[in-house]
Amino acid sequence: MDNVSPKKHLGQHFLADANIARNIVEALRLPGGVTEVLEIGPGMGVLTGHLLQHPEYRTTVIEIDRESVAYLERNYPSSLAGRIISADFLKQDLSKLFPGQALSIIGNFPYNISTQIYFQVLAHRHQVREVVGMLQKEVAERIAEPPGSKAYGILSVLVQAFYDVDMLFAVPPHVFVPPPKVQSAVIRLIRNATEKLDCDEKLFFQVVKQAFQTRRKTLRNALKPFGMPAEATTEPIFNERAEQLSVAQFVQLTNHVEKHRAVST
Ligand code: SAH
Repeated sequence: MDNVSPKKHLGQHFLADANIARNIVEALRLPGGVTEVLEIGPGMGVLTGHLLQHPEYRTTVIEIDRESVAYLERNYPSSLAGRIISADFLKQDLSKLFPGQALSIIGNFPYNISTQIYFQVLAHRHQVREVVGMLQKEVAERIAEPPGSKAYGILSVLVQAFYDVDMLFAVPPHVFVPPPKVQSAVIRLIRNATEKLDCDEKLFFQVVKQAFQTRRKTLRNALKPFGMPAEATTEPIFNERAEQLSVAQFVQLTNHVEKHRAVST
């Protein structure tokens, strides 16, 4: 038996359409001459095969499922020699795996952990120049949507602070084995020019999370846990709700919170 039987708990939905696989791989831009490409969750290598047609990429794959790893080792013994990492992507420190190197990440991601994958990308934003990922359409929208839209949330603000996001194309369930219950979409993130935000970045993450925790409340109420005195929250921005604020406004807000907060978190 040469195929891997899909495991639901690992989010295994194997792509069975070679054209879509090629389109995903061709969406890579390798900004600034990046050559390291890391594929998350190669499974049976439907994307990997297309990546390996680009000898100019240094392709590495990381896969948690031993059976898939064994399959890849059998089928790509030389082209992926030494570049199959049998491990959980979420537990990796990319600065140790790819010391001092910029990289592009690609994958048909396991949908059950796709949000965590993007948080892991954010934690390594100084290295990760690009992400081309297929994921559940709703989650893709949460990352890509602009302020004021329903899907705009924590992930949108945090990702858009550091990446330009493009919604590329939708993918229907029937091209996967087994088909997922949800629609899928491919999005591309390219690292923007912001090396560092004009505010305390740790506090920025906290302010964004706090503001969206009660997204229906005005910011005046939502940000109460920071303990700012009432006279520090009279400006019009505090009448707004989190979903209306742009990244730049969240930066402003963070500086305001830093100046006036009573509670250090
Ligand atoms: N790229 C393949 C498989 C996609 S399914 C294709 O398009 O057909 C998602 C893959 O991610 C599965 O192979 C699954 O085993 C793997 N995976 C799940 N969780 C993972 C994790 N934490 N780290 C690395 N790989 C993971």
